[in-house]
Amino acid sequence: MTKKVNFLGVEFDVIDNQMIADAEADEKHHHDYMVIRCVDTNPNAGSLSLRTRRRRTPCEVCHEICWIDPLSYESTAHLNHTIICQMCMLKKVERKGDA
Ligand SMILES: [Zn+2]
Repeated sequence: MTKKVNFLGVEFDVIDNQMIADAEADEKHHHDYMVIRCVDTNPNAGSLSLRTRRRRTPCEVCHEICWIDPLSYESTAHLNHTIICQMCMLKKVERKGDA
Protein backbone atom coordinates (compact mmCIF):
# COMPACT_ATOMS: atom_id res chain seq x y z
CA MET A 1 0.00 0.00 0.00
CA THR A 2 1.25 3.48 -0.84
CA LYS A 3 0.53 6.66 0.97
CA LYS A 4 0.82 10.28 -0.05
CA VAL A 5 3.22 12.57 1.69
CA ASN A 6 3.05 16.30 1.20
CA PHE A 7 6.53 17.72 1.08
CA LEU A 8 6.90 21.47 0.43
CA GLY A 9 3.53 21.51 -1.29
CA VAL A 10 4.38 18.61 -3.60
CA GLU A 11 2.69 15.24 -3.12
CA PHE A 12 4.84 12.16 -3.25
CA ASP A 13 3.85 8.52 -3.27
CA VAL A 14 5.75 6.68 -0.61
CA ILE A 15 5.65 3.00 0.17
CA ASP A 16 5.08 2.32 3.80
CA ASN A 17 7.52 0.59 6.12
CA GLN A 18 5.59 -2.68 6.01
CA MET A 19 6.07 -2.86 2.24
CA ILE A 20 9.78 -2.28 2.65
CA ALA A 21 9.96 -4.95 5.35
CA ASP A 22 8.04 -7.41 3.13
CA ALA A 23 10.32 -6.73 0.21
CA GLU A 24 13.36 -7.28 2.39
CA ALA A 25 11.92 -10.52 3.76
CA ASP A 26 11.26 -11.75 0.20
CA GLU A 27 14.79 -10.90 -0.77
CA LYS A 28 16.13 -12.89 2.19
CA HIS A 29 14.03 -15.94 1.35
CA HIS A 30 14.89 -15.84 -2.28
CA HIS A 31 17.98 -17.55 -3.57
CA ASP A 32 19.56 -17.93 -6.92
CA TYR A 33 20.51 -21.53 -7.48
CA MET A 34 23.29 -21.46 -9.98
CA VAL A 35 23.60 -24.26 -12.48
CA ILE A 36 26.09 -24.84 -15.27
CA ARG A 37 25.03 -24.90 -18.89
CA CYS A 38 25.44 -28.28 -20.55
CA VAL A 39 27.21 -26.64 -23.50
CA ASP A 40 29.86 -25.29 -21.14
CA THR A 41 30.71 -28.58 -19.50
CA ASN A 42 32.95 -31.45 -20.41
CA PRO A 43 30.62 -34.46 -20.57
CA ASN A 44 33.25 -36.55 -18.80
CA ALA A 45 33.88 -34.08 -15.98
CA GLY A 46 32.75 -34.79 -12.44
CA SER A 47 32.58 -38.01 -10.51
CA LEU A 48 30.70 -41.03 -11.86
CA SER A 49 28.08 -40.71 -9.09
CA LEU A 50 27.50 -37.06 -9.97
CA ARG A 51 27.21 -37.89 -13.66
CA THR A 52 24.70 -40.63 -12.85
CA ARG A 53 22.41 -38.57 -10.65
CA ARG A 54 22.49 -35.16 -12.32
CA ARG A 55 19.52 -34.08 -14.39
CA ARG A 56 18.95 -31.52 -17.08
CA THR A 57 16.95 -28.44 -16.21
CA PRO A 58 16.40 -25.21 -18.10
CA CYS A 59 17.77 -21.93 -16.80
CA GLU A 60 14.68 -20.02 -15.65
CA VAL A 61 16.05 -16.84 -17.18
CA CYS A 62 17.37 -17.80 -20.64
CA HIS A 63 16.01 -21.40 -20.86
CA GLU A 64 19.37 -22.81 -21.80
CA ILE A 65 19.61 -26.48 -20.77
CA CYS A 66 21.76 -26.88 -17.67
CA TRP A 67 22.89 -29.59 -15.30
CA ILE A 68 21.39 -29.78 -11.86
CA ASP A 69 22.59 -32.00 -9.05
CA PRO A 70 19.36 -33.13 -7.31
CA LEU A 71 21.27 -34.04 -4.17
CA SER A 72 22.54 -30.54 -3.53
CA TYR A 73 19.40 -28.90 -4.92
CA GLU A 74 17.04 -30.82 -2.66
CA SER A 75 18.96 -29.82 0.44
CA THR A 76 17.89 -26.24 -0.35
CA ALA A 77 14.52 -27.01 -1.97
CA HIS A 78 12.54 -25.38 0.86
CA LEU A 79 13.95 -22.04 -0.21
CA ASN A 80 12.45 -19.87 -2.89
CA HIS A 81 14.74 -20.48 -5.85
CA THR A 82 15.41 -19.17 -9.25
CA ILE A 83 17.41 -21.70 -11.22
CA ILE A 84 19.88 -19.57 -13.07
CA CYS A 85 22.78 -20.48 -15.33
CA GLN A 86 26.23 -19.06 -14.72
CA MET A 87 25.97 -16.79 -17.76
CA CYS A 88 22.74 -15.15 -16.53
CA MET A 89 24.21 -14.92 -13.04
CA LEU A 90 27.20 -13.09 -14.47
CA LYS A 91 24.92 -10.64 -16.32
CA LYS A 92 22.87 -10.13 -13.17
CA VAL A 93 25.93 -9.40 -11.06
CA GLU A 94 27.22 -6.99 -13.70
CA ARG A 95 23.85 -5.21 -13.76
CA LYS A 96 23.88 -4.88 -9.99
CA GLY A 97 27.35 -3.38 -10.21
CA ASP A 98 26.06 -0.66 -12.56
CA ALA A 99 23.19 0.30 -10.29
ZN1 LIG B 1 20.54 -18.52 -18.25
